[in-house]
Amino acid sequence: MTLHLSTKLCGVIGDPIEHSLSPVMHNAAFRELGLDYAYFAFHVPKESLKPAILGVVGLGIVGLNVTIPHKLQVLRYLDHVDEEASRLGAVNTVINRDGRLYGCNTDGIGALRALEQNGVTVKGKRSTLMGAGGASRAIAFKLSEHVRSMTILNRTKSRAASLARSLRRYRNIEVKVKELTEENLSETLRETDILINATPIGMWPNVDVTPVRKELLPSGLTVFDIVYNPIQTRLLHDASKRGCRVIDGVDMLVHQGAPAFKLWTGREAPIEVMRKAVLRALKRKFGS
Ligand code: NAP
Repeated sequence: MTLHLSTKLCGVIGDPIEHSLSPVMHNAAFRELGLDYAYFAFHVPKESLKPAILGVVGLGIVGLNVTIPHKLQVLRYLDHVDEEASRLGAVNTVINRDGRLYGCNTDGIGALRALEQNGVTVKGKRSTLMGAGGASRAIAFKLSEHVRSMTILNRTKSRAASLARSLRRYRNIEVKVKELTEENLSETLRETDILINATPIGMWPNVDVTPVRKELLPSGLTVFDIVYNPIQTRLLHDASKRGCRVIDGVDMLVHQGAPAFKLWTGREAPIEVMRKAVLRALKRKFGS
């Protein structure tokens, strides 16, 4: 990557941030299209969020991704937040337009496209979502435009209940809430078509843990794990063995990045180049 005085800067803020694959993915896309852009990862602890966002305007950074733990707090520092991101209360993408900051959320569309790309029709399906954090909220709002029903299981039940209340305000589907326990999973999975893991359970370095015991996974279930490091989580490994259809988190990563790329550059994202860059980086890390 050659940097010039004219190079436009993008980046991701979060804490921790070392694991982020967004720099690899977006820089590969900039290179492919010959764009004079560069993407960096910025380690921003909670207490530094406000000065970091002021710095985006001050330094003329053109685009930003926002990850844990800032997706909710960042809203208060933006000039405009689009309707969907306002409703779900989380932003993962910021665009600097002449010093005014616009926020939106591409996680939901990223998840939907990942499912569609893997041949899953979500319309009319019974969905179960594990987790009620930032990613889960975005996925719940987007999928609830299409699915027949949604059950949200979360370690902290009150958080799932709060997400369900927000959903019911805008969507006319059946939404159930349960604590994430083995008993509740067992009962719920018997009436589920699509199961989505939107918790970090199974993420590196805790690769031997899974949110669902293997025996509870019925064959024929579609299991989508949004964790992408490792690509094949323990959950997906077990689900394959049980005869489920499995989808890993890489496609979502690419498809949540693609709309951000377009917003910052005005160009269609080179999806395949981005996917290959992510897969290469993961292969370097996990060797498979
Ligand atoms: P978050 O806002 O911190 O939410 C995490 C959720 O997981 C919460 O509901 C939390 O439950 C639950 N959780 C965390 N640790 C748990 C544990 N040990 N046992 C049970 N539940 C647990 O995080 P997020 O932004 O939603 O991200 C969640 C995961 O998705 C991360 O691994 C992230 O890397 C991944 N992700 C992937 C993509 C992609 O493009 N593929 C995009 C975004 C995120 P409580 O409410 O009880 O705390």
